[in-house]
Amino acid sequence: MTGSPQAVVNIGLLGHVDHGKTSLTKALTGKWTDTHSEEVKRGISIRLGYADTTIYSCPKCSLHTLKGECPKCGGKAELKRRVSFLDAPGHETLMTIVLSASSIMDGALLLIAANEPCPQPQTAEHLMILNIAGIKNVVVVQTKIDLVTKEQAKAHYESIRNFLKGSVAENAPIVPVVSNYGINVDAVADAIERTIPTPHRDSSLPPIMFISRSFDINKPGTPIPNLKGGVVGGSLVQGSIKKGDTVLIRPGLETTKKGMKEVQVKVESLMSEGGPLESAAPGGLVAVGTSLDPNVTKADSLVGCLLGKPGALPEAKAEITFDHHLIQREGFDNPPLKMGEPLVINVGTATGIGVIAAIKKGQVLAKLKKPVCVVKGSTVAMSRRVGQRWRLAGWGKSL
Ligand code: ZN
Repeated sequence: MTGSPQAVVNIGLLGHVDHGKTSLTKALTGKWTDTHSEEVKRGISIRLGYADTTIYSCPKCSLHTLKGECPKCGGKAELKRRVSFLDAPGHETLMTIVLSASSIMDGALLLIAANEPCPQPQTAEHLMILNIAGIKNVVVVQTKIDLVTKEQAKAHYESIRNFLKGSVAENAPIVPVVSNYGINVDAVADAIERTIPTPHRDSSLPPIMFISRSFDINKPGTPIPNLKGGVVGGSLVQGSIKKGDTVLIRPGLETTKKGMKEVQVKVESLMSEGGPLESAAPGGLVAVGTSLDPNVTKADSLVGCLLGKPGALPEAKAEITFDHHLIQREGFDNPPLKMGEPLVINVGTATGIGVIAAIKKGQVLAKLKKPVCVVKGSTVAMSRRVGQRWRLAGWGKSL
């Protein structure tokens, strides 16, 4: 995949609030991520943020860097691959997305600030989620080391090692950085290359893409003959799509009378952050230009749908069955589930609101207000209402 403009690996960004995620993202990708979006306050909708970067490799020193030049010998470094960082605003939504989108999460960066005792509550919960999701390829980034003495940084490093013991990240590299000054950020790139490989993907499988955004790219007032079709964005979990393909979007569009209606569309263009594509593979964010009326794709109307080859996508259903496991969290009781209890379910990029219609032998059947399209065996994140908020309370595998 060397040289592809599309990112080939998705890396989740985790870390306690104020542990320097925004600064590290800026240092790695040149982009500020918006971690204080209004979406958080609106509650359950999940906005998955992507930022890409390119990693280069020096053929002489076998060191990796974010620049085209080796930091050691100054020689020309060769393009290795593009990687995509995934983030979601808010602690609850971030944990939910790491679980529900674990099939597109190939690894994680876990940020831990050196100027606070380790672990902080959110850091502990993030490690718990990585354990549940089985995300083993983790790089720990020890941030803000400029705010402590050398001895403090060393002691803090040891406390991180202790904290990681017995977890999926037990042997994770710990890279100290000062993101604001770009100090040691190349070492993060190097650790990513050594710890988070591009997973093997079976391109012979039929394509399935999780749609995480949809929009209208036309400026207001564009004359009709110049209008571009509606665009959907997301990540492929398997297979590939190419220009000219006919694909299905399911459950599809909301109609006033019949609920949801699936749509068949032609792939007119493919785009990644690195440039246009002839075909798209699993990995980072892909934007698919379709033959749809742009009016129907605006304002994220298709978020949560699957895109794939007709015949190969699971049926859309207004119910979901999964085996369930409750998680222990600070700050709220998590008693056994009750019949009739309202739940929010996240699976892939889909969000479903529903009620529990059956509980049997650790399995839950939830009836949903709207249909969702679920690949069997997907990780389901389950939130319960605690006071006025939805809190992540458990997880399971769809049956
Ligand atoms: Zn070199």
